[in-house]
Amino acid sequence: MEPKTTESDPPSHRNGITKVLQYGEFTTTGNRKVRYAVSLTERDLTIQKITSTPAGRSKVVFNLRDCVGCRALSADDNADAGAYFSVYFYPFKRRWMSSGVARQRVEQCFRVALFQDPRANLEEAEKWADTIRKSSVRQQHLRNRVLYSEVHRSCNVMLLVNPHSGKGQALSLFTGHVQRMLNEAGVPHTLVITERQNHARELAREADLSQWGALVIMSGDGLLFEVVNGLMEREDWEEAIQTPLGILPGGSGNALAASIHHYSGAQPVSSKELLISCGFLLCKGLVSRMDLASVHLGSSPSNPTRLFSFLSLAWGFVADVDVESEKYRHVGAARFTMGTLVRLASLRVYKGRLAYLPVDEVDGEEDGQSPVSLEMTSMSPQHQPPSSAFCSSTLLCQPLKDSPCQNTAHLTFHNSRNSNNAFKAKKREPMSANATLTGPPDSLLVPLDQPVPSDWVVVPEEDFVLMLAMYQSHLAKDLYAAPDSTLDDGLIHLIYVRAGISRTALLRLFLAMKKGTHLANNSPHLVYTRVRALRLEPYSSKGVITVDGEMVEYGPVQAQVHGGIARLITRL
Ligand code: ADP
Ligand code: MG
Repeated sequence: MEPKTTESDPPSHRNGITKVLQYGEFTTTGNRKVRYAVSLTERDLTIQKITSTPAGRSKVVFNLRDCVGCRALSADDNADAGAYFSVYFYPFKRRWMSSGVARQRVEQCFRVALFQDPRANLEEAEKWADTIRKSSVRQQHLRNRVLYSEVHRSCNVMLLVNPHSGKGQALSLFTGHVQRMLNEAGVPHTLVITERQNHARELAREADLSQWGALVIMSGDGLLFEVVNGLMEREDWEEAIQTPLGILPGGSGNALAASIHHYSGAQPVSSKELLISCGFLLCKGLVSRMDLASVHLGSSPSNPTRLFSFLSLAWGFVADVDVESEKYRHVGAARFTMGTLVRLASLRVYKGRLAYLPVDEVDGEEDGQSPVSLEMTSMSPQHQPPSSAFCSSTLLCQPLKDSPCQNTAHLTFHNSRNSNNAFKAKKREPMSANATLTGPPDSLLVPLDQPVPSDWVVVPEEDFVLMLAMYQSHLAKDLYAAPDSTLDDGLIHLIYVRAGISRTALLRLFLAMKKGTHLANNSPHLVYTRVRALRLEPYSSKGVITVDGEMVEYGPVQAQVHGGIARLITRL
């Protein structure tokens, strides 16, 4: 039967009726006897078996939001005049032998054999592929209610893989699970295998960024830490840090990947499913703003070091576990559970002084409201076939009205600034930008050898079990440490645990963190507050401080958040 083909421009919904953009009747690759009615609307691709028995006419509907790409192909066999188009979906499906759903690949391939001429069939298949791709990109944009314009940037993605991250399987995980997806979505990418520590940092510092649409890492958080710092070390850091960054979980600490998966509204998943989820987000190519914290390390006051951090600053229990668990790297993400149990057995107290600038001291705004407007861009350039969001769009030119960031219901917890225990320090002039350092000036900080300004809160306790400053929701795949954090809320979510907590209570806190309920536990030892800046001065000369899970010089440290200065491929 000749396919009846109709085409029209959106909007596809008029008077509640969904308009069909294209309709056709095709066979599939495996069985040329069974025909399917295929109809495309702006939102869905519907496939229905054509049969005389009503019971056999089951319908399958794929939402185009779940589509990463579509390709037209001519037949391998010269004797076959037909052509094919394959549509690639990653919808949420029930997981085998377990509860919950996760994104799983579904390919739908149809044979177009309307004409005697193979070229005419291929043209028809290409028409389908093109319309499906465009509709799927439009779905994404409609969903996020954003306006787009063009970005004049290369489409090519530099994909940095650390072959030693995690259990040493990042490369095989990439080739096994992600590469095909990127090809299906038509995302051009250049694979770069890192050769040593700091290789990615050097590449980010030296790269001609006009050649790259995005820098994506397939590793743990440590490799992204290198890339972020490489970009911020450049003379043109302000523009360089606008380069969209992406993360594919291939390490043992995949906290940012877990955070973006969580922000996308999906349920917690296994490691491989997390990789598919992040690969899917990468194929979709939507970009959001991300906070960075500027971290000053002051072990040598004459030569302070500044780093940029996208995830966390940790001291005490968490930092020790991160570093001590290196020896269990072969077990992957489970290394943190093993490290936690070992460290619990030798639980200790960490002495130091902690101070912070509470959120509402800076701008008097309501707690939890973002000081930065949320924008989204796509890194998609022009001059490319519109095979995915990468290649058909766009830079947002208007703030999101209904962004989840602005609508987030923030939890409010104990803020020790108002407690009787807190006291204030003397006012000082803010630290001027250090001419030798690249990056934005830290207007909230004073030099580490001066007391904190008077509007800061100095925590009265000096005995701690841990201090954890988070700017994203997850500390690890299954540690939901800062539940109300969002990608660009411009906040440091500060958690500290005072000394005196029992081993059992601390274990209970970590178990609750798996579900993100630890802050609601009313533990008398745990304090959670949202801040813009903080300072920690450990009293011991030796110990461990980690930034984004990477060990840094031990000593006094302070940090300030810079709301939304980086860009990350994600979906909010
Ligand atoms: P994981 O989560 O498994 O620790 P990371 O991405 O955090 O994975 O990487 C761990 C460390 O490996 C980081 O400090 C990073 O700088 C370093 N690194 C990156 N590439 C290489 C390499 N080729 N050889 C050795 N170390 C590397
Ligand atoms: Mg945040």
